[in-house]
Amino acid sequence: MVQKGPRPLVLCGPSGSGKSTLQKRLLKDFPDKFGFSVSHTTRSPRAGEKDGVHYHFTTKEDMLTAIENDEFIETATFSGNMYGTSKKAVEEVRRTGRICVLDIEIEGVKQIKQTDLDPLLVFIMPPSIEELERRLRKRDTEDEEALQKRLETARCEIEYGNVPGNFHIIILNDRLNKAYEELREFILQNTDVAEGDEVATKDK
Ligand code: ADP
Ligand code: 5GP
Repeated sequence: MVQKGPRPLVLCGPSGSGKSTLQKRLLKDFPDKFGFSVSHTTRSPRAGEKDGVHYHFTTKEDMLTAIENDEFIETATFSGNMYGTSKKAVEEVRRTGRICVLDIEIEGVKQIKQTDLDPLLVFIMPPSIEELERRLRKRDTEDEEALQKRLETARCEIEYGNVPGNFHIIILNDRLNKAYEELREFILQNTDVAEGDEVATKDK
């Protein structure tokens, strides 16, 4: 059982929609207020990704054992790999008193909604599938097959994101600064985070 802390913040949206970019900026601007929930995944690390920081990189076998042992709040298979939020990941952030930020896909969101975590649910919407493809290609982290899979999945995710009531807010990430400002406003209005908690620009 995961103890309740402040309402977690869930960022969901198609791969390439800008979740990590926005999340990183949020944690940089409010380092004392937010903590990232480090998920488990069976996918291989990308260049620059560190085990225990960006993800806990694991094997399918170990992940299945951990699921069997009831260590996860939610799990999903995305683009052929397993992902999941462990109880420990959320508990570690909760213990610091910070708001836990989860970057998860929609099957995970559906499962989290069934828990008593009562998260704030944010959907990051790309301007179009074409722009999403351009951004994913430019990011250059996926091979062609994985990229096509992610784009296929994106269509269903966008549909789910657009259903009224599935998320508390849909943020269109056309211009990054504008999208971030919307996210920041949403947080200032829906949490006890205040402008005074923000690290001054010169300190960043
Ligand atoms: P996600 O975490 O949702 O998969 P990322 O944050 O990695 O997405 O963003 C995908 C790519 O798009 C990254 O290379 C990022 O720098 C870029 N990006 C994010 N937001 C914008 C934007 N508003 N305009 C142009 N490029 C963006
Ligand atoms: P990526 O491989 O690009 O890091 O992530 C692929 C997808 O998996 C993204 O939509 C991301 O939000 C999602 N994801 C990352 N961690 C988790 C998790 O713990 N649970 C779920 N359900 N999805 C996750």
